[in-house]
Amino acid sequence: MIIHLKNTVAEEEAQRIAEELQAILIAKEEIVLVTPSKLQELPAHLTSKVSKAVAVPNDIQLASKLYMNETRSITIGDTTIGGSSNNTLMITGPCSVENEEQIEKAAKFCVEQGVKVLRAGCYKPRTSPYSFQGLGLQGLKLLAKMRDKYGLKIITEVRDASHVDDVIEYTDIIQIGAKAMYDHGILRRCGEARKPVLLKRGFGSTLQEFVQAAEFILSGGNDEVILCERGIRTFETNTRFTLDLCGVAFLKEKTNLPVILDPSHAMGYAYGVPDLARACVAMGIEGLLIESHPTPKEAWSDAAQQLNFDEYAELLASLKSVAQAVGRKLV
Ligand code: PEP
Ligand code: MN
Repeated sequence: MIIHLKNTVAEEEAQRIAEELQAILIAKEEIVLVTPSKLQELPAHLTSKVSKAVAVPNDIQLASKLYMNETRSITIGDTTIGGSSNNTLMITGPCSVENEEQIEKAAKFCVEQGVKVLRAGCYKPRTSPYSFQGLGLQGLKLLAKMRDKYGLKIITEVRDASHVDDVIEYTDIIQIGAKAMYDHGILRRCGEARKPVLLKRGFGSTLQEFVQAAEFILSGGNDEVILCERGIRTFETNTRFTLDLCGVAFLKEKTNLPVILDPSHAMGYAYGVPDLARACVAMGIEGLLIESHPTPKEAWSDAAQQLNFDEYAELLASLKSVAQAVGRKLV
């Protein structure tokens, strides 16, 4: 149950009520308590202290449409997604920052295409220790340079708790990678941050587990969480993962969080990305994350799935009418 306390309730008393109800206390303009979802009725002696109480059937609580009916609005620079906007935010860039020349080409390409958010990883969650692990802090500094020089916003990923503070400091949107979705150290630290977080779905996670991971961030006091479906593991091996569009329909129906889709990691091969991207935009989503690279074949990570700049430009042009057909605007 989510309980908003009246502002006449002092913090000390709120703490006491939180203890009584085994609730997490979120102190903002209002004090909000989130109890385990098995509490379905407000104890009678508390009714005079409460301005609003919402019981939800399971631990999708703060993210639930039952709590907040409209998709949460999140502002990135001069762009808003969710809320009453019908914007679909375009995000592109290479899998990894490799060197200044490469990331500058990517930044210039974003500007040329009118894409406002540049993506690239500096701490790569690679499956093998012998693969390129990312440039680390040096990469973050290159991204910050591109932000200053080209007026772009930056999204880059956190792989583990050792560098979460650096990523929070340098980036505009914190990306939590699929493999880090269950890392409670990262989730809790991002709950304290005051920057939007894009949480990727673990490829072996149910939708319930995915949204509950988002609840760790929300209940830590960070309201700005975006969900990202990037493909789940199924029995199929011809594609890298399987993009769960049914799951996207569920998230849109049941949660109040903006949803961004990543068809690049789902497909794993550039040939499938444009068609999938069009299907994603047709779902009516808040954003689309696509990997692109000046020379994909030479990429240091995820070479097979990145679009070259001509392919991305062609895709973007074709997406405009798809967005329009579902009442959306690409931004
Ligand atoms: C990425 O965005 O480059 C990435 C590693 O994604 P994921 O966490 O979805 O595998
Ligand atoms: Mn990648």
